[in-house]
Amino acid sequence: MPFDWGGNVSDDIVRAQWNRVRGRLRDEFGEATFKSWLNPLTLAEVRNGQVRICVPTRFLRDWVVTHYGDRIRSLWSKEDASINAIDIVVLPTAGLKQANGGGVATAAAAPMVAARSVPAPVAATPDPANANDEIGAPLDPRYTFDNFVVGKPNEFAYAAARRVAESEVVSFNPLFLYGGVGLGKTHLMHAVAWHIRERDPKRSVIYLSAEKFMYRFVRALRYQDTMAFKEQFRSVDVLMIDDVQFIGGKDSTQEEFFHTFNSLVDQGRQIIISADKSPSDLQGMEERLRSRLGCGLVADIHATTYELRLGILEAKAEQMGVEVPRKVAEFLAHKILSNVRELEGALNRVVAHAQLVGRDITLESTQEVLHDLLRSNDRRITIEEIQKKVAEHFNIRIADMHSARRARQVARPRQVAMYLAKQLTSRSLPEIGRKFGGRDHTTVMHAVKKIEELRSLDSGFAEDVELLRRMLES
Ligand code: ADP
Ligand code: MG
Repeated sequence: MPFDWGGNVSDDIVRAQWNRVRGRLRDEFGEATFKSWLNPLTLAEVRNGQVRICVPTRFLRDWVVTHYGDRIRSLWSKEDASINAIDIVVLPTAGLKQANGGGVATAAAAPMVAARSVPAPVAATPDPANANDEIGAPLDPRYTFDNFVVGKPNEFAYAAARRVAESEVVSFNPLFLYGGVGLGKTHLMHAVAWHIRERDPKRSVIYLSAEKFMYRFVRALRYQDTMAFKEQFRSVDVLMIDDVQFIGGKDSTQEEFFHTFNSLVDQGRQIIISADKSPSDLQGMEERLRSRLGCGLVADIHATTYELRLGILEAKAEQMGVEVPRKVAEFLAHKILSNVRELEGALNRVVAHAQLVGRDITLESTQEVLHDLLRSNDRRITIEEIQKKVAEHFNIRIADMHSARRARQVARPRQVAMYLAKQLTSRSLPEIGRKFGGRDHTTVMHAVKKIEELRSLDSGFAEDVELLRRMLES
């Protein structure tokens, strides 16, 4: 056995925990960052509250410790509360060498360069007033209503969450929040929990991920302790389960979830659910559970708009107490389209860099710091895709994107496509021109200006363009 977890924790559990931690890291920092910095990490051992992780080089170790160490530790301690330190050590050959029988000796016998620990924060003790933390997951103190920026794409979900948080009686059950990754579902759920805990600490609110719910259920099954499991959940006032799409396909968990759900609803308890899809689109979910989930209030969070992204950047910059030039915020809002998490990540990187080198944030430094991210964002949307979608939308032939025809009914869609190409990719004007039948860069520039002008004059047209943008981004 190559790993030694020590104590009585089984291999599989630790491996599953590590996989979840990796999954979260990937979600939070994005694919590109994950690949370059976090993927090379391998788990060595877990023992006495300490997780030991190996990296292949010293440079990588230092980078990971400073940038991701705290996060890795806090994710691990969410998985396993007894973990209080993460040791990141250099092991030149990636992966693990087996020395002599395992245990500490395995790790010690490997050619390691001095480890650097990420110490636990001082105030890590859980709030004793909240016994529910044991079943639920801890709440992120940043995820409050005050810190949530409201805009068109999320105003409905926000209003629904607020209503649930503020009302004494159960208004709609369940509240089902859905939307793409990184758009604020978890943030809203935590905000509801914070609000209720603050206003009425006696009410018991439990927040947990569907994965954790499943994990606990499976464990209860194993220890033949499902009664206690049910009791825990059945005595809560508000139950929030995040990312229920993960429950799909697991029959016994679905069954248990369904029963817990029904009994809570029958007792007039509030339930809040989130998922990445609407109830009717949830895959692998039993029909009766699906329809049950959809019978309260279903609120979706749409992809961000430019205005919301700008608002979020401004709010975050203010929270961090840094001066971000308007031009830089506009640039980021134009370029980072995927989701709020990536947007935040990009801003953090720009700010961290400026602080590190002791210079002001400029457009140039921003482009430099984010070049990898900007490139990977570009890869998502190609000019060809834009041409195809726009042609479909306006019902013209794709060939007309390249043709010399100037009739309004083809020229306008072509301009829209050029405009979107400028907005959604980082291709230069001449490059874009070339892709549109070898047009000059001034033609592209003119198109961009024209569409901007039309957008501000004609709200119907502006919506059309926005819709296209959303379709391309999704
Ligand atoms: P989801 O659960 O939908 O994947 P999260 O709630 O984890 O997304 O949000 C990702 C990140 O973006 C979090 O740090 C969250 O605080 C932030 N965020 C998302 N939407 C907003 C918003 N409207 N205002 C401020 N921050 C937001
Ligand atoms: Mg979430």
